[in-house]
Amino acid sequence: LWIQVLERLQLQLSRPTFETWIKTAIAEQLDDNCLVIRTPNPFARNWLQKYYIKTIAEVVQEVMGHPIDIHITITQGDDASENPEMFWPLPSHENVTEPSPPDSAAANNGARSALNSKYVFSRLVVGANNRMAHAASLAVAESPGREFNPLFLCGGVGLGKTHLMQAIGHYRLEICPSSRIVYVSTEQFTNDLITAIRKDSRQSFQERYRAVDVLLVDDIQFIEGKEYTQEEFFHTFNTLHETGKQVVLASDRPPNQIPRLQERLCSRFSMGLIADIQPPDLETRMAILQKKAEYENMRLPRDVIEYIASSYTNNIRELEGALIRAVAYISISGLPMTVENITPVLNPPVEKVEASPEAVILAIAETFDVSVEDLKGSSRRREISVARQIGMYLMRHHTDLSLPKIGEEFGGKDHTTVMYSCDKISQLKESDPSMAQTLRQLGDRINHTSQMRK
Ligand code: ADP
Ligand code: MG
Repeated sequence: LWIQVLERLQLQLSRPTFETWIKTAIAEQLDDNCLVIRTPNPFARNWLQKYYIKTIAEVVQEVMGHPIDIHITITQGDDASENPEMFWPLPSHENVTEPSPPDSAAANNGARSALNSKYVFSRLVVGANNRMAHAASLAVAESPGREFNPLFLCGGVGLGKTHLMQAIGHYRLEICPSSRIVYVSTEQFTNDLITAIRKDSRQSFQERYRAVDVLLVDDIQFIEGKEYTQEEFFHTFNTLHETGKQVVLASDRPPNQIPRLQERLCSRFSMGLIADIQPPDLETRMAILQKKAEYENMRLPRDVIEYIASSYTNNIRELEGALIRAVAYISISGLPMTVENITPVLNPPVEKVEASPEAVILAIAETFDVSVEDLKGSSRRREISVARQIGMYLMRHHTDLSLPKIGEEFGGKDHTTVMYSCDKISQLKESDPSMAQTLRQLGDRINHTSQMRK
């Protein structure tokens, strides 16, 4: 019967899908009421469960003549099930290359980190904040060089860009082990280029970077102002793009906000998909901690998870760091894991710095190059009214002023105008990554000046 099921599934699913997910699975039990499918690892299980269970159920029903329960389990009993990482290509996987060093001097010249074995899709929690970036990354791994080329991942520090990028690499290799995948930081790309020029080996540099199936370049914002690197990268990009190879870039801001980036590169970077990653909401942060705890075999009370999750809001790396510190402290001190006991090792959550209304207005005026009078005036010129709306939004977030008071600060505007502005900017913040970025920068700036004055 299972053979029949397989045959039918094979007809329904694409070959790579079938080969990757179905063929590696074993029917452990199949009777009148129940089918148990055993998969080689947790990721395969989740994958089947999530995307193919319906298809499998339909096919089984066809074969059996009636619906039956389907359970998907993972192979038990060997070490591997304890340690899901084992299923993934380790950093030394031969295809996961940093481009091989042009000479031995460069090889000694610091670590060439390959893919981190922890940065796989199965370890990534998907929330509203990264759903699109995650979906696009999966799509790219499944069919590189097609829809989203380049894929441009952008988001603040510690929000999972590197993780997603490397997950693409891992998963691509899983699907197609012969893929040539290069993961490189922008800094390393630059260093390799410099070395190549010095050694007069530009050709081998070009061969190295252009003979890949998927090129993953991290922290591309650092290419800013490096004219020569930009020139070279432009050609690398074009060669890959023209031959249908996939390029994935990660940056802390969208292309149009990278200063001193050549226009032609900016437009290349924007021609695929720009997927932004926002800070995770509380529930997602809790899910991240939960998952992390599971991987580390730790059991944490819910209130502890909630407490840590609520103390760290916009950097997942810090969130994880806090968890690790808490666990280490508890295991050393021998105290029970409670909120009170871990408080000492968590950095106190950063308090919002109280800013003065003037500080907000000044920051806006300087950033947008408009005058304070204009901000307080009634001009409806677009750049002024946008700056004013952003100012109202920021004043709402950085001061305790009421809506009518904020209206006064902006030259006696009605409180409904303030409300409308705050609303509008909030929406833009959600929908437009560059707005989110601008707000973040302005927020930092206001916090910074207010802190100095304290
Ligand atoms: P970035 O490159 O954006 O600065 P990283 O990819 O280095 O961020 O992520 C920082 C840390 O947070 C990593 O340890 C990563 O595994 C973890 N992380 C980020 N996003 C998630 C997520 N959605 N689920 C689980 N862990 C995550
Ligand atoms: Mg990173």
